[in-house]
Amino acid sequence: MDDSDLKKLIAEDADVILHPASSISALLSNGPQMICAADGCMIEDAQGRRYLDAVGGLWCVNAGYGRAELAQAMKEAAEKLSYYHTFSNASNPWQVQLAEKLLSIAPAGLGKVFFGSGGSDANDTLIKIAWHYHALRGQHKKIKVIARQQAYHGTSVSTASLTGLGGFHKEFPLPLDFVLRVECPHFYTRALPGEDEAQFCERLIDEIRQLINTTGAENIAAFFAEPIHAAGGIIEPPAGYYQKLKALLAEHDILLVADEVVCGYGRLGSWFGSPLLGLEPDMMATAKGLTSGYFPMSAAFITNEVWQVLKQGSDKLGAFSHGYTYSGHPVGAAVALANIELLEREGLVDKARENGAYLHQRLHDVLDSNPYVGEIRGRGLLAGVQLVADKAQRRLPDAGDKWPLKVSNAVRELGVIVRPLPSVATLAISPPLTISCEQIDTLVMALQTAINQQL
Ligand code: PLP
Repeated sequence: MDDSDLKKLIAEDADVILHPASSISALLSNGPQMICAADGCMIEDAQGRRYLDAVGGLWCVNAGYGRAELAQAMKEAAEKLSYYHTFSNASNPWQVQLAEKLLSIAPAGLGKVFFGSGGSDANDTLIKIAWHYHALRGQHKKIKVIARQQAYHGTSVSTASLTGLGGFHKEFPLPLDFVLRVECPHFYTRALPGEDEAQFCERLIDEIRQLINTTGAENIAAFFAEPIHAAGGIIEPPAGYYQKLKALLAEHDILLVADEVVCGYGRLGSWFGSPLLGLEPDMMATAKGLTSGYFPMSAAFITNEVWQVLKQGSDKLGAFSHGYTYSGHPVGAAVALANIELLEREGLVDKARENGAYLHQRLHDVLDSNPYVGEIRGRGLLAGVQLVADKAQRRLPDAGDKWPLKVSNAVRELGVIVRPLPSVATLAISPPLTISCEQIDTLVMALQTAINQQL
């Protein structure tokens, strides 16, 4: 494609495409940022400018861009079996191999995998499985689902309802009323004056206990939790939270669902975030890093105990009646398997832990003393930089000041991409797990320069 073709496409873009999560008028006046190529941790736009992508696309390019072995795995599978469905007991070898591999690395207790196309449908599937599981056991009223403020679980009708970021509900009739909302477990912004972390944790668990009591456990199916909130601000709950939560939910026959769509596949320096944070899931949603973004695919996990109930239901009803055209897609399964093997072969999960420690160290070294940086948080290669207007009071900037956007735009001018999370005044970092220490230095210095320039 030559330059004039590209210019034409850039000019036409906003006339023909409704972009996801984008400002339509900004697109109409400025056009899109057209990305035409990528390799390693770098992306390249139509003007030939290269950027260090410290977000890994949308928190998904764990293996890095342009990996020939992943393209090859897709090519081989597509040539052999471009597609066949997996409804009505059909299968293909790639999805079986992938499921076996995934179960060998999954958190203890998870025994079966359901494949879909993305994070929203994985969570949607698990909402339905939670309902179905309870209904098959005679608990037809167990329909409510608990989710937290500042959670992000997707944008389908049901998962946008679970999402606890108000922007995703405005002028939509959402959230649907099956959702019950509880406090975001962020000590830095949500603790009461004088409260320590243990007291904060107790208060959060008490709130959930009270909600269960007032709603009635017989009406509640599940609790959804990202081990670390990603789009909601890179938020890790206080120590002991997940253990207490699990005990409380188990007492009331409420399923605990881990949304590992961002945390899974090495991001935090372990295969999954749940074991790291003491979260024992009954079900788990994954996507993104499953294929490192090379193919849209999700894997939702359930325990054998849940599966036994679904089996009895299938015997009774004739089938487990849920699925997608692309469930278990052979090309997706082939590239997911190749991706997991690549992460293993190159030791990228360990590298995420080691280079993650370096990233956090550098962020602290350079930004701790900055008056506009309140908290640096996260684990492994997932980090958040909290911007504050008043450090002593932990007061966040006014949304209208657009600090995260201003800083991330200035970082971009310096050749680095970070993700602004405007509603929580945070800058998010989740680079490919292949990022080097030199690239981490570049990223941290760009952040420092941009913050100093803009604030
Ligand atoms: N869950 C989490 C934690 C996510 O961060 C996302 C997307 O960013 C989703 C679910 C939804 O995934 P998708 O956009 O693939 O539907």
